[in-house]
Amino acid sequence: MARGARERAAGASTAGDEMSQERFIAAFWAKVSKGASDECWPWMGCKGRSGHGLTSLGYGVSLSAHRKAWVLTNGRIQGDLCVLHRCDNAACCNPAHLYLGTRADNMADRFGKVPAGERGPGRISVLSAEQLAELTRLRHSGVSLKECASRFGVHIATICRHVTVRRFAKLRKMRADRLSLHSRKDI
Ligand SMILES: [Zn+2]
Repeated sequence: MARGARERAAGASTAGDEMSQERFIAAFWAKVSKGASDECWPWMGCKGRSGHGLTSLGYGVSLSAHRKAWVLTNGRIQGDLCVLHRCDNAACCNPAHLYLGTRADNMADRFGKVPAGERGPGRISVLSAEQLAELTRLRHSGVSLKECASRFGVHIATICRHVTVRRFAKLRKMRADRLSLHSRKDI
């Protein structure tokens, strides 16, 4: 079955399913470490080699976590579109960092203008090592994400990604505490 058709099938529910749907949605967001609205929200469950979160849409239908975050937030995806990251953080499930694009957009998003023969397995780092050190210093001195993005001339989501990577180990330790904060009213 095509992905769109599977999503339509999985999205079909009756009034009697409402409570289980609610639990289903809550169980998904419980595995997302939600931060501020402009920060990356990393998937804390299993991940694939590409770094994308691995989850399912129910009924045995597998789906990447960020795509599910988009569907739960914005509804069914029309056509054969991909859900892409503005922040270049494959594990991120913050709907504000996601957008719809074609497969061609997906490749451009991942590799930019790097020729096919020179593409590595990873993603392109927008900030240099010196800029990353400067970013750490700025953040420690209380400079906002928005201001940092402005200083480096990059999208705020790029700053979020670098900040999130640094916070990731800490976030994992806090996971148990954070999960208890994700009550149903938060989703
Ligand atoms: Zn993000």
